[in-house]
Amino acid sequence: MTFVIAQGCCSDAACVSACPVDCIRPRPDDPEFMSAEQLYIDPDSCIDCAACMTECPVGAVYDENDMPRDLEVFREINAEYFAENPLEVVEDARTVRRRLSGDRPELRVAVVGSGPSGCYTVDQLSRIPGVRVTLIDRLPTPYGLVRAGVAPDHLATKDTAKVFAKVIRRPNVHCLFNVEVGVHVSIGELLGAHHAVVMATGADEARTLGIPGEELAGVHSARDFVAWYNGHPDHAGRRFDLSGERVVIIGNGNVALDAARLMVTDEHALEATDMARDAVEALRQADVREVVIAARRGVLDAAYTTPELLALTRMPGVELLAESSELGYDADDRRLRRSTTRRKLHVAEAASHTPRQGGKRIILRYNMVPVSLNGSGRVESFTFRRDPTVPDGNAELETLSTGLVLRAIGYRAAPIDGLPLNSETGTIAHRVGRIHHSSPEDPELGLYCVGWAKRGPSGVIGTNQVCAAETVEAVLDDFLGGTLGEPGCSADELAAVIAARQPSIVDHGAWLAIDAAEKRRAADSPTRPREKFVTLAEMLAAAGR
Ligand code: NAP
Repeated sequence: MTFVIAQGCCSDAACVSACPVDCIRPRPDDPEFMSAEQLYIDPDSCIDCAACMTECPVGAVYDENDMPRDLEVFREINAEYFAENPLEVVEDARTVRRRLSGDRPELRVAVVGSGPSGCYTVDQLSRIPGVRVTLIDRLPTPYGLVRAGVAPDHLATKDTAKVFAKVIRRPNVHCLFNVEVGVHVSIGELLGAHHAVVMATGADEARTLGIPGEELAGVHSARDFVAWYNGHPDHAGRRFDLSGERVVIIGNGNVALDAARLMVTDEHALEATDMARDAVEALRQADVREVVIAARRGVLDAAYTTPELLALTRMPGVELLAESSELGYDADDRRLRRSTTRRKLHVAEAASHTPRQGGKRIILRYNMVPVSLNGSGRVESFTFRRDPTVPDGNAELETLSTGLVLRAIGYRAAPIDGLPLNSETGTIAHRVGRIHHSSPEDPELGLYCVGWAKRGPSGVIGTNQVCAAETVEAVLDDFLGGTLGEPGCSADELAAVIAARQPSIVDHGAWLAIDAAEKRRAADSPTRPREKFVTLAEMLAAAGR
């Protein structure tokens, strides 16, 4: 018997270090780790000890004899990985195992942003004796994209919050939530009270297409749609026009697939998630029957991952379709590796269906280069050009009517006063996590970055574990090398200054009160894990602030 990693793998690699026979790949030190769609267990080496299943924070590891039927394909997916990448035992996976010597002063680090990269950074720092961490977030609630980005129906993925909950309650971690850097405290002030400041502020700005009509009503970024259905307080009360039959989503990354899936998910299934109440109601009343996911390139270049594509093939009452004329590919193409082959097969299978009358459907379209969004005041249609470089392509324009368009074309870091942005990558300018202005040789002492702010919007939640290890190594190297100056005041003194400016600071205890109140609000529901507060006022009232 063997264990199998399936849908929802967060790649945090907790299973890798738990495995006594080292049969899970890729490991954090492997070059392909950062781009891997998920981790895999070698069926020939697995000794059936269940250590990986016990450690997995998101319940993505299954006993092969006890798998849900719709996930059985992952048995083959795990085995195929090792057929292509035979198991070789290599050196230990990378983890931060540094210690500070007893005669050093306490290392004080402020981490700005409590999403996955911030929490993994806090985790790795706060495990080290002699380190004190101040964790700051502008919202009263922690966990960033785990709360406001991960799709509400991916409840197992949201379970990573349970891992982070254990981290932020450590005695050497001090939470200052509802505190905004640039408003209630400056980066300079944080540096005055800490040896190092790590920016874990994510990539919060949606990219734009730069085509005519993008400003029309009914054209939104998927970022706004995702934040709204997840109850982010910046988006409370927003309205999306879901009265049309067809929605077009531009881009085919996992964000596009999340948005498409949730638009056509059965209302009872939505009720069993932590989706914001007004979004559940709006989707219940929606008239959407068809979601077109429009990619500018072909099947082999699709940005979605195989597990998320497979999930679309298993939706009750929803068909996954594609246009067979758009699936041109070269069978000798060297990029036809394991996962892309599978991806292609599923799309081909979808393309062979004849749509049922009356059912809901998601249609995967390829080689659709956006040209314009059209309408007077409101969007009425989307025009795209068929990419002439693909076998079946021509330079013709095609127009699809639609009243709602989501741009799911990626994110970039939002500018932060005083921090250098690399306009090409849309990230903070840095080298291995050390922020620099003009030259990487001349880093800003004590300033670091991690997560999407550092490497752009890529990877899954656990990818941030490795990213955080690199940044934490840089902080420790600089501290132990004597590069970082001694702070002028204590972290407690700074906290008192911040409290005078922001009386409604939410500390760890106050966050726990919000968390408990949200769970109580859902206590009557047999399936709903929590009823989220979606406004700051509600959150602060629950926090007693
Ligand atoms: P993404 O994976 O980078 O996908 C962006 C998509 O936008 C691509 O299809 C890209 O096409 C397209 N695009 C970019 N510029 C375009 C333009 N000007 N015109 C037309 N299309 C354009 O980004 P994402 O979907 O926002 O996801 C961000 C990260 O979060 C990814 O790492 C993703 O895997 C992760 N995520 C994971 C999950 C999950 O695991 N369930 C869920 C959500 C997000 P090209 O490829 O042609 O550039």
